[in-house]
Amino acid sequence: MKVLVINCGSSSLKYQVLDMTNESLLCKGLVERIGMDGSVITHEKIGMDKIKTEVPMKDHKDAIEQVLNAVQDAEHGVVKSMDEIGAVGHRVVHAGEKFASSVLITEEVIKALEECVDLAPLHNPPNLLGIAACQELMPDTPMVGVFDTAFHQTMPPESYIYAIPYEYYQKHGIRRYGFHGTSHKYVAERASKMLNVNLDDLKLITCHLGNGASVSAIKRGKCIDTSMGFTPLEGLVMGTRCGDLDPAIVTYIREKENLPQGKANEILNKKSGVLGISGVSSDFRDIEEAVAEGNERAALALKVFAHKVRFYIGAYIAEMNGVDAIIFTAGVGENDVTMREIICNNLGNLGIKLDPVKNKIRGKETVISADDSRVKLLLIPTNEELMIARDTYNIVTGRI
Ligand code: ADP
Repeated sequence: MKVLVINCGSSSLKYQVLDMTNESLLCKGLVERIGMDGSVITHEKIGMDKIKTEVPMKDHKDAIEQVLNAVQDAEHGVVKSMDEIGAVGHRVVHAGEKFASSVLITEEVIKALEECVDLAPLHNPPNLLGIAACQELMPDTPMVGVFDTAFHQTMPPESYIYAIPYEYYQKHGIRRYGFHGTSHKYVAERASKMLNVNLDDLKLITCHLGNGASVSAIKRGKCIDTSMGFTPLEGLVMGTRCGDLDPAIVTYIREKENLPQGKANEILNKKSGVLGISGVSSDFRDIEEAVAEGNERAALALKVFAHKVRFYIGAYIAEMNGVDAIIFTAGVGENDVTMREIICNNLGNLGIKLDPVKNKIRGKETVISADDSRVKLLLIPTNEELMIARDTYNIVTGRI
């Protein structure tokens, strides 16, 4: 069966088609500037050059229509007709407390997700638009929702309850949810395969370090804690997001800087993180270049970032009473040799020893710990799309 994976943002859309008989990727692409001037689709059939086509797309339905055209294109397509697509898997950011795993999309599921819009006002509406557009254009194709929050639903209450009046949890659903769940789950499963140890017998710490970043503690295959919270703003320092903060700072800055409603949110989400500290960039490559030129704030940004990752690793070792493997994934985790070195430096007493030679590698599934390291350090490229396709395939074929 071939599965189409859709990841819909407010003005962009990523897609892939996978053949689930051998889990191979057939094509992938990106639609940008949906609803704006200069909308463009970039499509790549695996083994062929990318093609970029500018075509007006006023909404998500137009965008999906272009995706379906590209997928069926005589030269660059991967199916003769959409009948060959057995199912569509949709990434959905927030499912609140409603879903702890992926589900077949029904009217009730859509309603439940609409109720979560308040919790993820930037993400859930475009996700729902993508589902609606696909349903309109492929009315007979089953669709599955795969949620960023689902994997974290196994967290115990002591991990997810904030110490604010309990009624806010009851009335408004204010609790920690966690995100990047699909990625944390994927790398945990891969780690179990690489180590040849059942997930039930493992204590893992998964570090998803990309532009957005989060760490999870996974015991016996279940998430027991994660660093992102009510929104993806909590936890680690990120590209442009502040991560953990004394909440009093928000009101203080608003007063001092006379900031209108909404502005503080924008600063904490878009102008903070390593960008805010360094003043250089949110991209670790630019920051490392600046460090090489002697920029001290850039160096400080890297130190603050690493400090927070180490802080969570230590916390999760305490929470799980040990750890068998620590996994690095996503843009920074997979590629940033120096950052992995800084994070793992001087943890020998915890049984964590990086091998500096094995660590000199990018984007490849491999062990990077020293042979005598009690805790295995693993580099595992994430693959959220494959995870979405797998869940979709398993659900529509009744395997789960
Ligand atoms: P997201 O999916 O959250 O947008 P990614 O997981 O793609 O982010 O990570 C993007 C980030 O990865 C970039 O901003 C950059 O900082 C970092 N990155 C990518 N390649 C490298 C590299 N070779 N060295 C250091 N950092 C890198």
